[in-house]
Amino acid sequence: LVVVDKVNKHFGELHVLQDIDLSVARGEVIVVIGPSGSGKSTLCRAINRLETIDSGSITIDGQPLPQEGKALAGLRADVGMVFQSFNLFAHKTILENVTLGPIKVKKVAKKEADAQAMALLERVGVANQAQKYPAQLSGGQQQRVAIARSLAMKPKVMLFDEPTSALDPEMINEVLDVMTSLAHEGMTMIVVTHEMGFARKAANRVVFMADGRIHEESDPETFFTSPTSERAKDFLSKIL
Ligand code: ATP
Ligand code: MG
Repeated sequence: LVVVDKVNKHFGELHVLQDIDLSVARGEVIVVIGPSGSGKSTLCRAINRLETIDSGSITIDGQPLPQEGKALAGLRADVGMVFQSFNLFAHKTILENVTLGPIKVKKVAKKEADAQAMALLERVGVANQAQKYPAQLSGGQQQRVAIARSLAMKPKVMLFDEPTSALDPEMINEVLDVMTSLAHEGMTMIVVTHEMGFARKAANRVVFMADGRIHEESDPETFFTSPTSERAKDFLSKIL
């Protein structure tokens, strides 16, 4: 579904993505881990065309990433993204946050968009907050709204970039639970996270990045019990 082929990206002198190859099948859940500055966020942003790439190619469902205009808006609908910061619209209600994309981009009628949004808010456990504003919700609730907002666009793949790292510990699980159930329902997901419990429970594959390269790629069990690359061993010894 997502094919990243020999992708390179520089920020000035910094070679932030170096010959990155990654393919993600429909329904697959990939967890990307690695030290700070290794290029994980840049990779996610490139897949969503929030960053340009210098060489190589990225395709979604066989289609090259569009560069601009209407097609780019379509891509953003197909590729949902949830960031560390919740990025909700502060001056819109929770319900409006979720219906905005479907109404504006997908031209869904308001009534239908409202009904779909309420169903999604129900699914992530915040339907009772629909008329409130983002600032009135906890971080964990806001992040679940952000997930619902992405899902409202009916994406083919969801990207998560450290979705729980800005949350208080007691709120982390409520977000991870939503992500785990999405994974089990067959959503294709690329998740940057240091939550190893989630990786073990939900990932089909762990991709380890360091210094702009993928050093290792394996199933979670193998990765956590017998990593092969020195960089991965070193990283795991620091976090486990
Ligand atoms: P973290 O775990 O801290 O989130 P990361 O793996 O997500 O790290 P990236 O955010 O992809 O890393 O950044 C990779 C490198 O690229 C870092 O050295 C960062 O400083 C640099 N970088 C990221 N964005 C830009 C930018 N817009 N301009 C210049 N350098 C950038
Ligand atoms: Mg990052």
